[in-house]
Amino acid sequence: MRFSRVFYFPLKEDPKDAEVISHKLMVRASFIMRLSSGIYSWLPLGLKCIRKIENIIRDEMNKKGAQEILMPIVQPKELWTESKRWEKYGKELLRFRDRNERELCLAPTHEEVVTDIARREIRSYRDMPLILYQIHTKFRDEIRPRFGVMRAREFVMKDAYSFDRSEEDAEKSYAAMYDAYANIFRRCGLTFTVVEADTGEIGGSFSHEFMVLAETGEDIIFFCEKCGYSANHEKAEIGGNFKLSGKRGNYKKVLTPNKRKVEEVAEYLNVPKERILKTLLYKSEKGTFGVLIRGDREVNETKLKNLLNLDFVELLSGDEIERITGAPLGFSGPLGLSIPLYADKEVGQMEDFVVGGNEADTHILGVNVSDLEVRGFYDLRYAQIGDPCPRCEGSLLSKRGIEVGHIFKLGTKYSEAMNAKFLDRDGREKYIVMGCYGIGVGRTLAAAIEQKHDKNGMILPISIAPFEVTVLPINVTDSYSMEVAERVYTELIDAGVDALLDDRDERPGVKFKDCDLIGVPIRVTIGEKNLKEGYVEIKMRDSENTEKVKKEEVVRRVNEYVRKHKSN
Ligand code: ATP
Ligand code: MG
Repeated sequence: MRFSRVFYFPLKEDPKDAEVISHKLMVRASFIMRLSSGIYSWLPLGLKCIRKIENIIRDEMNKKGAQEILMPIVQPKELWTESKRWEKYGKELLRFRDRNERELCLAPTHEEVVTDIARREIRSYRDMPLILYQIHTKFRDEIRPRFGVMRAREFVMKDAYSFDRSEEDAEKSYAAMYDAYANIFRRCGLTFTVVEADTGEIGGSFSHEFMVLAETGEDIIFFCEKCGYSANHEKAEIGGNFKLSGKRGNYKKVLTPNKRKVEEVAEYLNVPKERILKTLLYKSEKGTFGVLIRGDREVNETKLKNLLNLDFVELLSGDEIERITGAPLGFSGPLGLSIPLYADKEVGQMEDFVVGGNEADTHILGVNVSDLEVRGFYDLRYAQIGDPCPRCEGSLLSKRGIEVGHIFKLGTKYSEAMNAKFLDRDGREKYIVMGCYGIGVGRTLAAAIEQKHDKNGMILPISIAPFEVTVLPINVTDSYSMEVAERVYTELIDAGVDALLDDRDERPGVKFKDCDLIGVPIRVTIGEKNLKEGYVEIKMRDSENTEKVKKEEVVRRVNEYVRKHKSN
């Protein structure tokens, strides 16, 4: 490709709505163009990167025997009713009607359709293992689209689905996908880590997320250096043996006029927040209950839902609280409450603490664990740096990451809901055991940019950059420079290198800047002075050094670099 023909209109200014560097650079470098909130067009340079990522994905999927399909984005309500997700999926699911008043949705994910395909064709255990995948558009009406294509509403995902005859075989498929994902992200040149994750909206039994480490990541990863345990913020378990404090004592009521929040009560009574017990009252589809947690901690509602096997939990309103405790919001306490109470396990170690008095403007001092009537002590809070590791005696640290891939073992959740069965070897009908596996293609590119960039622009890994090398003649009006440039460029193309010839009659500064902005990893600079001595210059995007090379050698050298870095 010749730069003079490239669809490229660089911006000097960052777009106003861009908060993160990848978004800024992708817009400034004509990779993407915003159409509407969370909806983007991919322009030629950006799409070249996307296609390279897709080809790596395709290659690794095919190597595992997965087969590519393409499923509809517009889907009928009926399928989603079968899986019970028409109601359960929140507003992210965009629902609409056609001219015949039939209800439809735009697919945020494809479990329903793929399960339908499977149940119509899979008859016997001989038809499995089967892995189907597609690389296709998804629509999720995200509450806060942001960061460009990183959290978009319309985006391209690779989604794969596995079908097996037993749990054991399903685990083999899961392991194969895990392996493929590790290969994909490695080949995309990313530094990533794999963490345990909650299964969320998709449901199922266990799951891992592939996280690219980056300061700007939305996700927080907890990990233990000692044993290698790692999990995301939602999932991170807190270890440690807890012993119930045996202390007893006499508690007493005190007035705390209008002091509702933990901070206010702590200050008023002059006790640290760690010695205040919060009583949070929740409702759920199974009824009302309370959670007890140390004053300075936050309840992890995912852990709560998992513990109690609930689909939804929500804090009670002030009126609802008053009906149960007899006191307004801010004065709830565990003593004398008739609803079930679940305590965070850290509460078990607290002594002489303060609780709400279930009476307006009162708290109770000097309460101990033996005064509480709870269903049990469980891991119910968000992990913090320094918390005990759940797997060894180490403690947890944290880092920021961007979730680029997510794999789930679904079990029979969808096959049961949608009646997808097969005839097993023993002559019995059984439900197909499933798994599902997603990669955000646009997000992967954005994550690569977040991971490596400098003040001049992107520093892209060679396997996913829009071009592998730019051949840059400094003076295009010098016919000898152009002759050499054309020759080097043609030979590179012939050798299978994805080269760009910067044939533009621009100042060298402008050409260098553009080449840096779009992240091309190798630059071959052809200057008149060097050329007189028979040399050209090679510079790598991620280094300041330049290397003089005989002009006859340059194609071989570049080719060597490309092969070496691509195979890493
Ligand atoms: P998140 O927690 O970031 O909202 P998710 O867990 O809902 O994502 P999955 O259903 O696991 O997403 O989707 C698989 C992959 O699709 C994610 O790992 C991510 O790379 C990508 N993805 C999900 N939502 C978006 C989005 N709004 N924009 C771009 N990519 C996305
Ligand atoms: Mg996910």
